[in-house]
Amino acid sequence: MRMKVEPVPALSDSVNEIRALTAKIVNDEILPNENMIWASRIDGNTVTESDRQEARRIRASIKEKVKQAGLWAPHLPEEYGGVGLTFLEHAYMNEVLAYAMGAASLFGVVAPNSGNQSILVKYGTPEQKEKWLIPLIEGKMESGFSMTEPDSAGSDPRSLKTTATRDGDEWVINGHKWFTSNGLAADFLIVMCRTEDPDGDTASTTRMTQIIVPTDIPGVNIIRGLNVWGRRSDHCEIIYDDVRVPVDNQLGRRGSGHQAAQDRLGAGRVYHCMNSIGQMWRAFDLMVARARSREVHGGLLQSKQFVQGFIADSYIDIQAARLMTIHCAEKMESGADARTDISAIKVFVPAAYQRVVDRAIQVWGGAGVTGDLPLAGMYLGARTLRLADGPDEVHKILIAKNILARTSEEVGWDFGN
Ligand SMILES: Cc1cc2nc3c(=O)[nH]c(=O)nc-3n(C[C@H](O)[C@H](O)[C@H](O)COP(=O)(O)OP(=O)(O)OC[C@H]3O[C@@H](n4cnc5c(N)ncnc54)[C@H](O)[C@@H]3O)c2cc1C
Repeated sequence: MRMKVEPVPALSDSVNEIRALTAKIVNDEILPNENMIWASRIDGNTVTESDRQEARRIRASIKEKVKQAGLWAPHLPEEYGGVGLTFLEHAYMNEVLAYAMGAASLFGVVAPNSGNQSILVKYGTPEQKEKWLIPLIEGKMESGFSMTEPDSAGSDPRSLKTTATRDGDEWVINGHKWFTSNGLAADFLIVMCRTEDPDGDTASTTRMTQIIVPTDIPGVNIIRGLNVWGRRSDHCEIIYDDVRVPVDNQLGRRGSGHQAAQDRLGAGRVYHCMNSIGQMWRAFDLMVARARSREVHGGLLQSKQFVQGFIADSYIDIQAARLMTIHCAEKMESGADARTDISAIKVFVPAAYQRVVDRAIQVWGGAGVTGDLPLAGMYLGARTLRLADGPDEVHKILIAKNILARTSEEVGWDFGN
């Protein structure tokens, strides 16, 4: 089935063109080849070497078409080989490309490299850009972001324990991290460290600094890729044992690590939500298509009221999630304070995504949980999103705090802005 993307009257010609070009690649190049492109991931046992070669060839050819269409690396400015999209343009592009599973990587957006690229663009010195950013963009290097720890709460980054201590011209890093994605392939990691006054006020957010750490130096011990959802993964457990790097590897000002992480995650949350909407859109189309064609108990599924309820509830979930996310993206683009909205979408959208995919699986029956359809992968992804990048509870607390701080007994909240 093709994704239906027509011009949206309220959007500019440039955004409509980006969406149309993206949809053309999704519909003409990716969806017809989807099983082959990702075959080795989905069905590793039965895939032959020639299948793998063919998958590589198709991926390379799609990437070339993406570049020709001027859509490569939408998250990067033009001077770094990206499309130079505005925040909103990028958000609108994401919902279209995410309709096809894994398509982001074919458009040059591969987490965590893409987040690290954006952080290096914003905080890197000219030397750091030369040494780490450019090879990362050119695909000659891989990277990871190493913040979460087994022994402290990732949902409260102020509690992180990994330290970096100044010794002459070097930082000496000691700590224990896990869930460092892409850790097995990474050439360098951006590591969140406690650099200020380790015995002082641990609750401050200004004690963290991000430091670039190559993975091939003494003391970087990559213990294992964690088993996630029953599968081996490259989300790694890493022990940093007296790791020494030059002070020049410090990213941004000392103590700016928390702010840099917020910069990374704030924009990332909107992109993740637009991706989730693209995937819900796909799950919805799959569900409706199955309801139209599957006959059970003497009638098509579409004639059953339970299934009609699934379709209606999913439509409502997707529209609510989409409009909420676009509203948030518009606020961010205008420079308004969008923190409440970012937290609101971070809670609402993954939960809506999970509900929509759950219904689509139900309508498809047993087929819904097989690798023949993208629904099982989407379901696990949606569940994971409810805790990654800040769990639901933390964002709900932030929403309530912001609302209570900006209202009083006399003045309420302004939902118009
Ligand atoms: C697939 C995957 C990839 C990841 N990739 C990376 C990566 O590349 N780099 C990286 O650094 N991290 C990564 N993470 C880690 C992720 O960001 C953390 O798991 C997340 O921030 C939560 O931290 P935690 O696991 O330490 O949970 P904790 O902080 O221990 O929280 C556990 C639970 O406590 C509850 N909770 C927390 N605070 C409150 C509260 N105030 N009130 C009530 N309940 C509360 C929530 O339900 C929460 O889920 C990844 C995680 C996953 C699953």
